[in-house]
Amino acid sequence: MATRPRTVRAPRGADLTCVGWPQEAALRMLHNNLDPEVAERPDELVVYGGTGKAARDWESFDAIARTLRGLDDDETLLVQSGRPVGVFQTHEWAPRVLIANSNLVGDWATWDEFRRLEALGLTMYGQMTAGSWIYIGSQGILQGTYETFAAVAERRFDGSLAGTITLTSGLGGMGGAQPLAITMAGGVALCVEVDPARIARRIEHGYLDQQADSLDHALRLATEARAARRPLSVGVLGNAADVVPRLLTMDAPIDVVTDQTSAHDPLAYLPADVAVEDWAELASARPEEFITRARESMARHVEAMVGFQDAGAEVFDYGNSIRAEAQLAGYGRAFEFPGFVPAYIRPLFCDGKGPFRWAALSGDPHDIAVTDRAVAELFPENESLARWLRMAGEKVHFEGLPARICWLGYGERDRAGLRFNELVASGELKAPIVIGRDHLDSGSVASPYRETEAMLDGSDAIADWPLLNALVNTASGASWVSIHHGGGVGIGRSLHAGQVTVADGTPLAAQKLERVLTNDPGTGVIRHVDAGYERAAETAAARGVRVPMTEDG
Ligand code: NAD
Repeated sequence: MATRPRTVRAPRGADLTCVGWPQEAALRMLHNNLDPEVAERPDELVVYGGTGKAARDWESFDAIARTLRGLDDDETLLVQSGRPVGVFQTHEWAPRVLIANSNLVGDWATWDEFRRLEALGLTMYGQMTAGSWIYIGSQGILQGTYETFAAVAERRFDGSLAGTITLTSGLGGMGGAQPLAITMAGGVALCVEVDPARIARRIEHGYLDQQADSLDHALRLATEARAARRPLSVGVLGNAADVVPRLLTMDAPIDVVTDQTSAHDPLAYLPADVAVEDWAELASARPEEFITRARESMARHVEAMVGFQDAGAEVFDYGNSIRAEAQLAGYGRAFEFPGFVPAYIRPLFCDGKGPFRWAALSGDPHDIAVTDRAVAELFPENESLARWLRMAGEKVHFEGLPARICWLGYGERDRAGLRFNELVASGELKAPIVIGRDHLDSGSVASPYRETEAMLDGSDAIADWPLLNALVNTASGASWVSIHHGGGVGIGRSLHAGQVTVADGTPLAAQKLERVLTNDPGTGVIRHVDAGYERAAETAAARGVRVPMTEDG
């Protein structure tokens, strides 16, 4: 009998409802992904990212929960695209859950075929952390955006954006994190947005400081703050295809330019000469005309971005395909500025750095405060990390179970995991901590439009790496491991893997954490050594990561 949608939240506290903490953690995180504070459309089991789901249907959800409650410490549950399909006897070092989401055979890996199979009830879209039960709400977006701007600062401005203006557009779901991330990195953000409601919402949520009355006013506020090296974010109402070229002709002192309008979908980018009120009607009545006009506007927008680059600004594509859309409109220099991963994130990937995240199974925010302090104490030399932890503690409102994210690299994640395990064992934390990460990580993703764009050796589309990542995490003692297709950029365009490991305070957990949190980022280091990145080779040599092809016979 089909079971009905209902409101679910993760159980809290230190009492087990399962046989062991790894099973309990999976159960709580599955529920947490569907907490109404966390999920976009919990009734439909949709967590985030379009249709990224935590379970195929409510019947599957109930069967997963029931199975986890009875699962022994030497058993493993298999989940196929959100549906529990088997339980096998394994051993205590094996993951308690193995998950495969949205995978399709090469020639069949299209949205059309996926949607046909989904309609038959045979698969679901797992996104990245939706179907692998480790989504922590919008904090992940804010932190990833902060990390990108911190990397821009590191690369070009001596580690801080103080005294710089970043011009960007789009204050939507993802883009709305930009002003706060830029001010957290010390800079001034000038944000162009066509929809007044989006500007008001960002101000209301504390992500944007103020709205300017006009472009002149915005520029005056921004240049004053730049001169005083004071962080400030200013929203200005307007169309980026008009405003960005105008700022270029005004010789505005812009230091960094990017964009997070929804350019990946030309029906979601407003053409320059269309009013916001006419948007929906024109897009549905004459979509082809709308797309042509949107692309023409994007070409003007990108041409101005290239103009800023010619004038010396730091310019990058923020993962929204605006370069490709401008090129479709006939603008020939669209790809003159890079995507954000090759420009800033790849050096971090060479160090095995990526989005380490954790959640407090107790449900008590105090446990996150304790772990925040522990991480800051472990890495006192990392100023950007310290600034993030301090500001996150002040500004991030928890959604669902209290959680935190920060970027840590090879040789760091295992130390943090072991410290959390000690804090659980000593009783300083009220209940175990669950440790996972986004799939956008150094060794766990193949995605030629994003994480593996422009690899040095041309290996962008090689998908062996995320598979090896999942296999080694399985062999190292992770609590649950997943292999997904199509997250982030869509079906046919990516393959990625996730791992989650539980710090329950036991000596066994310590051994597992040490191995998983060493080997997981280790696959990022070896992936980049293999692709020929000098920095990865240096990291491997300095930290003792073994790469057979570089060892003497
Ligand atoms: P969204 O649809 O919520 O917001 C887009 C905003 O752009 C809206 O507020 C809209 O009003 C505004 N806009 C549209 N046309 C405009 C124009 N011509 N001028 C000014 N403003 C305009 O989208 P989102 O969730 O914020 O995502 C933004 C983009 O980032 C998407 O293309 C998304 O795919 C991409 N993205 C990037 C990453 C990453 O890692 N960098 C990850 C996921 C998604």
